Amino acid sequence: MNFINLNAQYLAYKNEIDAEIQSVLQSSSFIGGLKLDEFENNLAHFVGIKHAIGCSSGTSALYLALRALDIKEGDEVIVPDFTFIATAEAVVLVGAKPIFVDINLSNYNLDFKAVEQAITPKTKAVIAVSMFGQMSDLRSLNETLKNKNIALIEDGAQSFGASFKGEKSCSIAPISCTSFFPSKPLGAYGDGGAIFCHDDALAQKIRILLNHGQTERYKHEFIGINARLDTLQAAILNVKLKYLEQETEKRQILAKIYDENLKNCVIPKIDNNAKSVYAQYSILVENRADILQKFEKAKIPYAIHYPTPLHKQLCFKEANHLEIKNSSYASEHILSLPFSAFLEEKEQEQVIDLFKD
Ligand SMILES: *Cc1c(COP(=O)(O)O)cnc(C)c1O
Repeated sequence: MNFINLNAQYLAYKNEIDAEIQSVLQSSSFIGGLKLDEFENNLAHFVGIKHAIGCSSGTSALYLALRALDIKEGDEVIVPDFTFIATAEAVVLVGAKPIFVDINLSNYNLDFKAVEQAITPKTKAVIAVSMFGQMSDLRSLNETLKNKNIALIEDGAQSFGASFKGEKSCSIAPISCTSFFPSKPLGAYGDGGAIFCHDDALAQKIRILLNHGQTERYKHEFIGINARLDTLQAAILNVKLKYLEQETEKRQILAKIYDENLKNCVIPKIDNNAKSVYAQYSILVENRADILQKFEKAKIPYAIHYPTPLHKQLCFKEANHLEIKNSSYASEHILSLPFSAFLEEKEQEQVIDLFKD
């Protein structure tokens, strides 16, 4: 059994993907070009936003978003304590200070009250992670922050294709980021990511920054970086994007089977207004060590997203934070089960069996 069955997905779209790869190889156009333009247009249309900009990873997307907003040394950026390192890493890379804030245990997203309490005159942005594929009410968070002149960035690395009250992930905040890491809901065959925004000037700045700060060939107005998305990845993603809605529907069905059959654990709570893409199907278990022994014995794959809250990571030891309660609790009790649109019925039964009394 695979934790995420990427091979079955490849086989399902093999003819189309192989043809797209061949076409890029034949064209010898590996950077930029029509395939990338086409993918960016398709992305923007899917999300329902003016600008979608392909880039080299979710991490570079976050970095570029912060750079485009001119966030720098002396600034503070509020991030959830319970997320993948990249969310906070990007803040440090631009010279600003990440402020770790607790999550709520219903959807593992930022606790909005804790966000308001953490705001200081130095706060320039809040990065809200739509954890495990579920968005929170970013429209209302954005309103609160806008009144205080603080930018909202959605880290939609896990939630591409999700929605809240019918609005898609990466369509609400002034800037949103996603990742096309192979195991994400929309995964490339290598690294990739994208940035989304409404504003023309911001989009232009991001495009300049991700291409060495170059405004015209060999004219460099800013210090930028090389963070472009490969044409080959864009061509592959163009195929996979067509099937994302269909895969999301399949994920809903499989999640419901877990929901209805798992015992002795806390299943994911999805808000009535939210449609999750279940980037992970993650549960809380009281006795994780015992359950993991059963997984090991049955040779069933699992993952722990994430075993250490950010405030306890060595690289942030200077932050000297007090205990962050829900984030610490989640790290100790979370468990992600094998999951993808290609999980087979008998595989899912094997997983469910491990939870029987
Ligand atoms: C995967 C992930 C990222 C980073 O994406 P990469 O493409 O691997 O750089 C950032 N934030 C979150 C929440 C993620 O899950």
